[in-house]
Parts: sequence; C-alpha cells; structure tokens
Amino acid sequence: MSSSLLNNYLQSKSPSEYKPETLAYLASLEVIGKDNPQIVESILSELKDQRSSLKMIASENYCSLAVQLTLGNLLTDKYAEGYPQHRFYAGCDNIDTIESLAIEKAKKLFGAHHAYVQPHSGADANLVAFWTILTKRFEDKFFDQFDKKTVMDFDDAQWEEYRQAVGNQKLMGLSLDCGGHLTHGFRQNLSAKMFKYCAYGVNPETQLIDYDEVRKIAKREKPLILLGGYSAYPRKINFKIFREIADEVGAVLMVDMAHFAGLVAGKVFTGDFDPVAHAQIVTSTTHKTLRGPRGGIILTDEEFATTVDRGCPMALGGPLSNAMAAKAVAFEEASTDSYKEYAQKVVDNARVLGEALIKEGIKITTNGTDNHLIVADITSFGITGRQGEGALREAGVTLNRNSIPFDPNGAWYTSGLRLGTPALTSRGFGEDEMKTIASVIKKVLSCTAPKTTKSGKPSKATFSYDESIVAAARAEVDEMLSVKPLYPELDF
Ligand code: PLP
Repeated sequence: MSSSLLNNYLQSKSPSEYKPETLAYLASLEVIGKDNPQIVESILSELKDQRSSLKMIASENYCSLAVQLTLGNLLTDKYAEGYPQHRFYAGCDNIDTIESLAIEKAKKLFGAHHAYVQPHSGADANLVAFWTILTKRFEDKFFDQFDKKTVMDFDDAQWEEYRQAVGNQKLMGLSLDCGGHLTHGFRQNLSAKMFKYCAYGVNPETQLIDYDEVRKIAKREKPLILLGGYSAYPRKINFKIFREIADEVGAVLMVDMAHFAGLVAGKVFTGDFDPVAHAQIVTSTTHKTLRGPRGGIILTDEEFATTVDRGCPMALGGPLSNAMAAKAVAFEEASTDSYKEYAQKVVDNARVLGEALIKEGIKITTNGTDNHLIVADITSFGITGRQGEGALREAGVTLNRNSIPFDPNGAWYTSGLRLGTPALTSRGFGEDEMKTIASVIKKVLSCTAPKTTKSGKPSKATFSYDESIVAAARAEVDEMLSVKPLYPELDF
C-alpha cells in the first residue's frame, strides 16, 4: 500500500513539484510497510479519520510534521538515566545536547527558573512533582532531625518514621466532577493512595471556583500541596490568589497547566493568570494546547530544581530522548509570533463557539469560557453525554462526554459534553465555522433520543436519531472540512 502510494506520488509529479513533507511521510510508510502492512493501514486510516472529522476533543491537537518526524528515529534507542552531565549510562553526549536544548527553550518560553523535560506524560509529570515536593520537604526535615545526609543512612526506625510522615500528607485539588483531573486525587488513581485527598469544588450557582471557599477549606485542611489546574473547567484561574492562600496555610502551590500550557506559552494567560509566575512547581503535558509531542514537563522554582532532576530514577524510567528532541522542536515553534496569534485565536474561537451554543439554546457551564474549552450541559435534550457523544460522532464531530458540576449521571454516562478549539484552530478554522458547528451540534442533539431498556426505562447508553438530519449535518461538516484540509503539505 505505502509502496504504491510513494510510487504513485513520484510518478504523478515532476521532481520540482515534490513536497519534502510528502516524500518523507510516504518514504517512512514504505519502510514500515515492508514487514508491517497492517500498521501502515492503521496509520493511513487514522490520517483519513482525522482529516474527515471535526476534532473537538479539548485535550487534542495536530502537532507539526517536524515534531512527528523528530519522534521517529534512532534517539529512541539510547538509555540516558539521570540528567545532562549526570548520567548513569555512557555515551550520552548527544542526548545531553538535546535535553539541554529542550530545557533552555522551555525555560525561555515560560520564563521559568528551571525545567525538567523528561516526563513521559502528564500523569508522570504529576507523579514526579508530587514526589519532588514530598522528597524535598521531608528529606530536609528528617536530615536535620536525625542529623543524617542521605536516607541511606537512616536506621530502620528512622526510615519507618520518615515513611509514615511522607505517607500521611494532604493534597487539595479541584474535584473531578467540577473539572479536576484523575491524577489530582481521584480514588482510582495512585494520587489518592499516596495522599489524603481534600477537594475544593465550584460554586453551585455560578459554577465558578470560589476563592473564599478555597481559602476556607485550605485553612481547615492544611494541605501539603494546594493544586490548581483542570481538565474541564472553562475559566482562567487567578494564581496570585492561589499562591496567597497556599502561603497563608504553609502549602506548596503546584499548578497542573496540562490543558492551557499553550495559552501560557502564547501569552494569552499573563499576570495573575500565569501559573509560572506564581506557583512553586508547574506540571504540564506537551501535546494539548501546546501542540508538541505526547509527553510532559515540569517547571520549578529554585527550591525544587535539584530534586526534580532526580525524577529518573525517583519515579520514572529512562527518558525518551526522541520525545525530548521533539519537545525542543515544539518549544521553538511555540516561541514564534504566529504561535501567539494561534493561541489568541484558540480562545477567540472558544468564546464565539460558546456564544453561538447559547444562542442555539444550549446551556454551557459558567455561562461562558475564557480558555480553549466549553462544557455543555445537555440535560435538556433528555440524553446523556455518552449518547450525545455517540450521535455527534455519526455526524463527523469528535468530542467527548464530560461530567457537569455535581453530575447526577456520574463520570461514565455524564450529562455534559466537553468541546475544545485547539485542533480546529490549528486546522485554520475561524469564527464563522464556530457558528456553523454550534448549529450542527444543536440539530444532532435535538434529533437524538434514548432507546428504551428491557425494564422500560430510558437507556443511558443506547440511542437512536433521525438519520436524514444527521446525514445533512454530516454534509455540512464535510463541506467545512473540504475547505480547510488537514496537513496540506501532505498532498496525497
Ligand atoms: N493533567 C491534566 C490536567 C490533564 O488533563 C491530563 C490529561 O488529560 C493529564 C494531567 C494527564 O496527561 P497524560 O494523558 O499525558 O498522562
């Protein structure tokens, strides 16, 4: 398949018309396809799927072909445990160069004191950040108390006392149903087993984070870590106030900016809303709004800088050198003026989409957005988020179901949908398309209904819809997609 694609391409153009991106892409598929035709089929089929649907999953994006190509090479073969100039393996000179470049670019991009670019994902970044805080705060304390220089010198009783202290700390984060992330203390995640969890939520009326309430809970609970950040909260957060609260109760302010790192890099979130200016430790993914390779990073102040560098082997295995190189490429891309314009457009598109949904009669939480995402409450359509997600996928709109605050349908079925604009904006979509998308969503949700279960109750999972309405919606979606092709550099 790939072989014929490459040959067809070579034969259909004159050499002066060849696009290097297309040649690179097709040549790599040819190499892979020699022994793995099914893998090539799946890559091509994923490309087709992404080209032929509206990607509105708020946590996804389209990274550049330069980022993709940087991921696929021999850097993946190298072990480089440790950090630049401090490795547990020989022969790491080139990896030192790559990791140092990624670190410097991340520091410059975010104005951070220190950057750690090894985490394999956002969840790993949070794990390393948690252990960095626990290690730094408790090792220092117990080193003083026991007059020891390393934990290796603790006797068994001292080790047990240290372990008990470390394992008895509180983490305070945004609750899952109000937009927090699984790694912020959800019971199915390790974070809830490592820490005693205490949550703050949103105001039931406004659905906004209430800073006075956060302060009240923090004063009562006295957490070791006050965690800001979210997966499904449509508003910016005032991190200056969060830092004041953390300082008042002696907590470390950690911010997980996985979702909105691109808006920080693109200077949309500045001043009080810039987490790097206020938090002691900031974690992020690199693949959401930031538009880099799948992975994570951690930014720290001076206190945590040397401890975070021990992330491998503290909590991580060997770094993915190819991913660190791709992160460096993405940080470079994110430091341009065109990226700043992109970040602003992401937010503008979300605002217009939110307003258009409201005009269509669709409720959205907090009645608006000031970031890249919207949470729609679809209770009034008489269907669950799961059913809405399924019906919209039939019309070529890919988004995911999401809890609304205090959701009666729980986290599996949900009553909401989360919509994001980062990927569509990368594809070149603008405000007019946002209005059309809102009307498409309204049409599809309005013609969808739950099926009835054997017990005569409405199902929360299965659904039916008016096929002609969904087909017409699909045609509108196809029309929009055809005007803004994905990866125009790939002309096959
Ligand atoms: N933190 C937040 C706020 C997220 O939204 C996510 C992913 O959705 C993560 C962490 C985890 O990222 P990853 O999937 O890369 O582990």
